[in-house]
Amino acid sequence: MEERIVSGEADVQDFSFEQSLRPQTLKQYIGQDKVKENLDIFIQAAKQREETLDHVLLYGPPGLGKTTLAAIIANEMGVNIRTTSGPAIERPGDLAAILTALEPGDVLFIDEIHRLSRSIEEVLYPAMEDFCLDIVIGKGASARSVRLDLPPFTLVGATTRAGSISAPLRDRFGVLARLEYYQEEQLKLIVMRTSDLFEIEIDSQAASEIARRSRGTPRIANRLLRRVRDYAQVRGDGAIHSDLAIEALELLQVDRLGLDHIDHKLLKGIIEKFRGGPVGLETVAATIGEEALTIEDVYEPYLLQIGFLQRTPRGRIVTDLVYRHFHMEVPKD
Ligand code: ADP
Repeated sequence: MEERIVSGEADVQDFSFEQSLRPQTLKQYIGQDKVKENLDIFIQAAKQREETLDHVLLYGPPGLGKTTLAAIIANEMGVNIRTTSGPAIERPGDLAAILTALEPGDVLFIDEIHRLSRSIEEVLYPAMEDFCLDIVIGKGASARSVRLDLPPFTLVGATTRAGSISAPLRDRFGVLARLEYYQEEQLKLIVMRTSDLFEIEIDSQAASEIARRSRGTPRIANRLLRRVRDYAQVRGDGAIHSDLAIEALELLQVDRLGLDHIDHKLLKGIIEKFRGGPVGLETVAATIGEEALTIEDVYEPYLLQIGFLQRTPRGRIVTDLVYRHFHMEVPKD
């Protein structure tokens, strides 16, 4: 898969930049108002009762702030956070080691929780429900099961694929929170906040320009800001004005809706080769030389979100919006 500047997934350069950017409190966390308001109530209630917070499942596309929110939950509860991920826990013993090392009240954050194997999920169930661990000691006839008590903890799980989580695991979360794509106004605030933290001079219109092209995703907004900052430094005097931001974003081939050359290839491919569809996913994949799964997981969600693509039982269809976006004549049928 090609690397894309408008991908919601983190790349290596994002890592250290993002670490210093993460909001620490619910107040600093921009947008997602419903989720924030609910969490705020649950956190306050748990603190008043001096209990741990119920287990929380956060779901939504990459880059929307799930990891950030997990850290905020721990911070607001006044506890430590331990971080791991579904693919990092290979054997039941790995999970047992993590669980037994927790301190009372800790938050255990499992990113990509949908990638846990069934045998590991089974270790997790009694841990989530009764804060205990059933382990088998010995082998064959002398094997016996021992129950270990665990400190009470809060599991925060994050996933980009809520549909891939098994029902028994999902049912054990008390709080399910879905993160939505951000509005342009909120992304603009995020761009301004990041600029403030990094002492980048940017005007309001330039911040809007970056926000508009960020596909509803804070991670992309921050990444575009970084690239535009480079451009302003080399081609200007370092300050980001809107003309300069537009020039930089055009050079990066990110159009005014945040679509890049891969989106263009996909959409124009369906228009030019299949008269706008419907066309099956596998056929689209073969035409543009990408894996069907990549198209489904990475390219399509935003195009569906902005109403550029529709999924029908007969295949993918591009909508009138796409023809207008490309200044093409909308077909009569
Ligand atoms: P996810 O875990 O969903 O992939 P992250 O929590 O890693 O996303 O967020 C990606 C980046 O976006 C982080 O650097 C974070 O600072 C920023 N970010 C995400 N959500 C917000 C928000 N609501 N307000 C400000 N910054 C945010």
